[in-house]
Formats: sequence, structure tokens, C-alpha cells
Amino acid sequence: MSNKFVGAHVSASGGVFNAPLNAMAIHAKAFALFTKNQKQWAAKPLDDETIALFKDNLAKSGILPKHVLPHDSYLINLGHPEEEKRQKSLEAFIDETRRCAQLGLDRLNFHPGSHLKQISEEECIDRIASSMNETLKVTDGVSLVIENTAGQGSNLGWRFEHLAAIIDRIEDRSRVGVCIDTCHMFTAGYDIRTPEAYEATWNEFERIVGFKYLMGMHINDSKPDLGSHVDRHDSIGKGKLGIEPFRYIMNDPRMDDIPLVLETIDETIWAQEIELLYSLQA
Ligand SMILES: [Zn+2]
Ligand SMILES: [Zn+2]
Repeated sequence: MSNKFVGAHVSASGGVFNAPLNAMAIHAKAFALFTKNQKQWAAKPLDDETIALFKDNLAKSGILPKHVLPHDSYLINLGHPEEEKRQKSLEAFIDETRRCAQLGLDRLNFHPGSHLKQISEEECIDRIASSMNETLKVTDGVSLVIENTAGQGSNLGWRFEHLAAIIDRIEDRSRVGVCIDTCHMFTAGYDIRTPEAYEATWNEFERIVGFKYLMGMHINDSKPDLGSHVDRHDSIGKGKLGIEPFRYIMNDPRMDDIPLVLETIDETIWAQEIELLYSLQA
């Protein structure tokens, strides 16, 4: 029995209840989904029938709620320099957090935010953390999972120190986690291509953030090179990371029991990529 839970960010088109079925179709043991259209602000509330059907299908898939990692909308910027826009993001984020709770899920993955070159990193981190604190106060049962970024543009969260600084400002740390995206990690400048680099990077992660906060990973190869700060995913083994880092991950007990989610570019080979990843286990 493998203790790794690998899947992909599957489509929820037609309704969130389709996501577990789409995960089953590719033999996934974990998955990510958008609980609403990720490119729109407004969403109609989840009705009881939709919620029941989602839970039924999830049970059918055999995938546990803790192995589902919903992703929030790309429009949300919890660190927005303009208060009105931060507020709009916060409201949408609270709504997304509640949707996860309604679906019986326990974590929500989001990109920390962007200073848009209008405020300092420090100020942006303060805004992100207070948005998270406000969300935690009015919601229940869902952990907020901060994703590391490639550091493209003015996006924060590419350094482990950013993640740590946000966590440091959270009042209820029992409901905060991080999701490490292997492509973002690499293009942010953290190498994992050799056993030595892999250990050094994760030792730094443990020292600055801590594995106790690791609540999920995005398993992507990278088109751009180390430290390029460009966010372009590639299929497993086809990019600049190559296959070895994924072998290390699949054999690393520190990544046990969390959702390991493919966001690779060719969804027609997700089933093969999942099989490939499991085949790397010793
Ligand atoms: Zn993401
Ligand atoms: Zn990602």
C-alpha cells in the first residue's frame, strides 16, 4: 500500500460533483478543483443537491477529503494595495472558504498575493495575513494553504521567508498550511535536481517554514530554468527538472499522506503521469 496520494487538478465543469468522477477516470488518489469559475468574481451558492452529489461521488472515488486540495480564483489578491480591492478579494476568499466547508473539505489552496509595485513587500505581507486572519474568524474547519510562487511580476511567496512571515502573523496557526509547487520552487531559485540539492532545499524549508505546515504539493516539471521567475509548467520528466526530483519526492516520507497534484500541461497523459510517478517508488 503506497502512502503517496497522487492526482491532478481535474475539471469541475458541469458541476463540482464531476470532479471526483474525473479523478476516478485517471486513477487518481487525490485531486484539486475550482469550486467556482476561477475567472469570475460572482458564483451562485452551492445548493444542497450539488453538495450531496459531490459527497456521494467523493465517497465513490474512495478519495479522502484531506486528499482534495481546492484552488481559489485567480482574481483574488489578498495583499492588494488598494483597500477597496483587497476587500473585494477578501469577500470572495471568505466565500470560497465556506464553499470548501460546505463540500466537507478541509483545506483551500491560494496564491498569497501581489504588491503590484505600489507597496512594500512587508506591507503586502501584513495585508495578506490580516485578510487570512479575518477569514479564519468567520469560517470553520478549513485550513488556508499558501502556495509558493515563481515570483513572477510582483507576486509574493516565492521565498520560504515570505511564507514564514505570513504564518508568523496568523493568530490561529492550527488552520494555516503551505502547498509547495515544484515548478514554482525551481524557477524561484530552489534546486532539487540532485540528491544534494534536494536535501539542501528541503532542509532550508524545514528550517524556515517547517514540514508540519506542508499540506499539499503541486507536482509539475518546469519549462523555464532555475531562478528564472517564470511560471510555465511542463509534463513530468519533459522539462528542466527531469524525472529524478520526482523519484526523490515519491520516496520521501515527508510527503506522505498529503495531496500531490499534477498541474501539468497535457491532461490527456495525466493517467500515465500518475502511473509513472507511482512506478518511481522503490
Ligand atoms: Zn496555484
Ligand atoms: Zn501550482
